[in-house]
Amino acid sequence: MGPATDIAEPLEVLETDCGYGLGVRSLAAWRAGDVVHRFSGVVGAELKQHTLQVNEHLHISGTRYIGYLSHGCDPNCRLDMSSFEMVALKDIAAGDLLTIDYAATEDRLFRQFACHCSALTCRRWITGRAEGADAEGRAYLARLALETAA
Ligand SMILES: [Zn+2]
Repeated sequence: MGPATDIAEPLEVLETDCGYGLGVRSLAAWRAGDVVHRFSGVVGAELKQHTLQVNEHLHISGTRYIGYLSHGCDPNCRLDMSSFEMVALKDIAAGDLLTIDYAATEDRLFRQFACHCSALTCRRWITGRAEGADAEGRAYLARLALETAA
């Protein structure tokens, strides 16, 4: 099932209004399970800011959209790194910001960061799946715990 539109690539990179830099918005509506986008790029060994991990040793860079996806702890998309497809996890409306869970593909992040997504399951500090919080993250989480206890 594709989108009900004839726009060849109904995605748009934009500056997000929440101060997290660039994001990707869908210009079309999708149903859960739809392939939203097929991506391509340059696959190499280097981990960089907008790369995504393909397997244990390789990262993809120079992608048109997926390098700019925002993180969400309860995301509306996932990346299939064997078929190079972005798949909708939920129904998506035209205009929605597309999100993925960075820890679903990345062992290590180029840079860990605080998360303010609205998910009930928000992890507050985002790391790769194979690493713990760095010193900044541990301090941030400790501060949050104090504020919650107060
Ligand atoms: Zn979050």
